[in-house]
Amino acid sequence: MTIREHKSQHDHVDDLPLISDTATVTEVEAMDRVRRPEVRQQLLELGEEHGFEETIPTEGPIDWDRVFEAATRTSRQLAPQIGAFHDRFERAHPALVRIVFETDEPFDFAAGQYLSIRYDDRTRAYSIASSPSRDETELCIRRVPDGRLSPRLCEELSVGDRLAVRGPNGHLLLEDPSRRDMVFLATGTGVAPMKSMIDYVFETGRDEYNAEKRDVWLFLGAAWEDDLPYHEAFTDLAAEHENFHYVPSLSRESWLSDWTGETEYIQDALLKYVDERALEKATFGRHIAEMLGERPVDDTSARIDPNELEVYACGINAMVYSLETAVRKLGVAPPHIHCEGYG
Ligand SMILES: Cc1cc2nc3c(=O)[nH]c(=O)nc-3n(C[C@H](O)[C@H](O)[C@H](O)COP(=O)(O)OP(=O)(O)OC[C@H]3O[C@@H](n4cnc5c(N)ncnc54)[C@H](O)[C@@H]3O)c2cc1C
Repeated sequence: MTIREHKSQHDHVDDLPLISDTATVTEVEAMDRVRRPEVRQQLLELGEEHGFEETIPTEGPIDWDRVFEAATRTSRQLAPQIGAFHDRFERAHPALVRIVFETDEPFDFAAGQYLSIRYDDRTRAYSIASSPSRDETELCIRRVPDGRLSPRLCEELSVGDRLAVRGPNGHLLLEDPSRRDMVFLATGTGVAPMKSMIDYVFETGRDEYNAEKRDVWLFLGAAWEDDLPYHEAFTDLAAEHENFHYVPSLSRESWLSDWTGETEYIQDALLKYVDERALEKATFGRHIAEMLGERPVDDTSARIDPNELEVYACGINAMVYSLETAVRKLGVAPPHIHCEGYG
């Protein structure tokens, strides 16, 4: 199994066939929220609990060095939480946007593929988040701080703007229909190609094979709840289809709200839903064995059989490597593991 890595020049995306150099933006929408007041409130409560509240102003800018020093003087263990609050308070908004555009002529692509997008003089690869059966094309873009293009797409792009679009390209594609269940694993905008694939699967009835339902799982990881792209759409889809299981896992959200969902890395969240009976002959290291024994937060009785699975993973390269390693250890056959790394 080879993970398709894309390096800094994005696999020469400028050389892909031109689809349109006048694609028109029809929608731009922030997907994340401004949460500074929530962060300040939680920070104040933490300060009151640990006696450093005098370092936190009730309005205006926060002197984070001062807060950090005072908080960690009372307890070193507060460092990750203060760091997370700092990142969230200071981050630019929007940091996650959905962009919809239309081209004069429709173009064909397969669910899971990506396009090259040029705005002014910069070109980058972006996965298509919409299903091939839709007329308009949707992208989901995360702001990379100090990046050359993504901050401009998040801040400047507006309805009516023109984009040059090339492609499609990419080999993260759905397998031919079979009775295997499907597991999609992603963090953040790595879910974009999976949104396209999952919508396509349900629109075309590929969630059924020989009149039997296949289970379709999505494990989606992020730091904060509003960093989960399409959270509502996936929640609705899970309510509509008994065989769609949506497992969001959030590493930091419980510091800010009463998040009761999964909180682990998604490869660990996945382990909690694996059918241990299917693993009888395998031997695992301590960490995997422990996670396999954990109870999932979700009350679904459905479980994953790694012997009857196809897996799709997407996100930044390091994360995709961990995911690929985890599912290989579980016994998923390499021809059924499909990964794409964003760089
Ligand atoms: C096949 C493919 C599909 C992609 N699909 C999407 C998508 O659907 N949505 C999306 O938001 N992005 C996607 N990307 C990433 C995208 O192409 C850009 O790399 C990203 O938007 C950053 O571009 P930039 O010009 O802002 O940053 P740059 O100026 O290119 O980079 C600035 C710095 O940030 C680092 N960096 C680049 N990308 C990331 C990242 N994703 N996370 C953290 N650090 C990074 C770079 O190494 C560099 O050091 C995809 C990439 C590939 C190869």
